[in-house]
Amino acid sequence: MVSQSPDIKITPEAPVRAPSAVPVDDAVLAFEVGALDLRGRLTRLGPALDEILHKHDYPPAVGKLLGEAIVLTTLLGSSVKFEGRFILQTRTDGPVSLLIVDFQAPDRLRAYARYDASRLKNGQSSGELLGKGHLAMTIDQGSNTSRYQGLVALDGGGLEEAAHEYFLRSEQIPTRVRLAVGEEMRGGEGGKLRWRAGGILLQFLPRAPERAKQADLHPGDAPEGTAAHSVPDDDAWVEGQSLISTVEDVELIDPDLSGERLLYRLFHERGVRVFNPQTLRAQCSCSRDAVSCMLKSFAPNDRAEMVKDGKVVVTCEFCSSVYEFTPQEAGVE
Ligand SMILES: [Zn+2]
Repeated sequence: MVSQSPDIKITPEAPVRAPSAVPVDDAVLAFEVGALDLRGRLTRLGPALDEILHKHDYPPAVGKLLGEAIVLTTLLGSSVKFEGRFILQTRTDGPVSLLIVDFQAPDRLRAYARYDASRLKNGQSSGELLGKGHLAMTIDQGSNTSRYQGLVALDGGGLEEAAHEYFLRSEQIPTRVRLAVGEEMRGGEGGKLRWRAGGILLQFLPRAPERAKQADLHPGDAPEGTAAHSVPDDDAWVEGQSLISTVEDVELIDPDLSGERLLYRLFHERGVRVFNPQTLRAQCSCSRDAVSCMLKSFAPNDRAEMVKDGKVVVTCEFCSSVYEFTPQEAGVE
């Protein structure tokens, strides 16, 4: 039998076709490697990421870390349906004490970071920038449904590690995540640096759940010398992990390598089905009306204290938009 090649399919109904060579930025591509029971998502970010980070003028290390959080959010949050919202937030004791990424389905992204510039040093890893604390993920599917919050400790590791830990402990889904962020020099524009990022999430979701079984967590109170419980990984998951470990950061952010080509490069031997890309954009949801409502929710004394030089000025932390109100407009008597 002549083998069919190449093995990229765009939808379950579409015929097998060659991977598209056209790079699509600011999009999430869902994919499936049926032969290995693997599912995943691939994110490529260009102009949307650049817009979010450039509004803040962060030091490069902070921009890179926030970029990683944004990529992780798109990988996790793009499964949120309808008018839902996915918020990823870290609170830690390191130089970067807070990261917030707010994804509003189907496509809006906004984010910001808080950091202490005096504690930034060259060469700090993501884990060192974060320090210790926790990562929280909140899914809000709309007013009539309850909010879901997942928490995972950050203990000196980076966001990839935290994601693995979260899926191991909370979801019991074997998962691997790769995140990459970089600045690209574009010629012809006075050598302007532009942020780019990419990431991939791979999960092992076999029909028979026992195949995804992972070792029990080590019981803290077991007598010394007790062997840790171990379960060998399923062969399909071993193969999946080894394939994703070959992805290099430069491939994840390469502006000339299409997402389909990258997936084909990784999984062509097994065949990979790629779904239609879901586009993303940078857009804040703040407005003068919303800020005005927020001001009116403060106690009168607090509002009065916000008056400086005869006006109340509010800056949106997400997008740096500045809103000015007269004391009267701000409800100050
Ligand atoms: Zn805003």
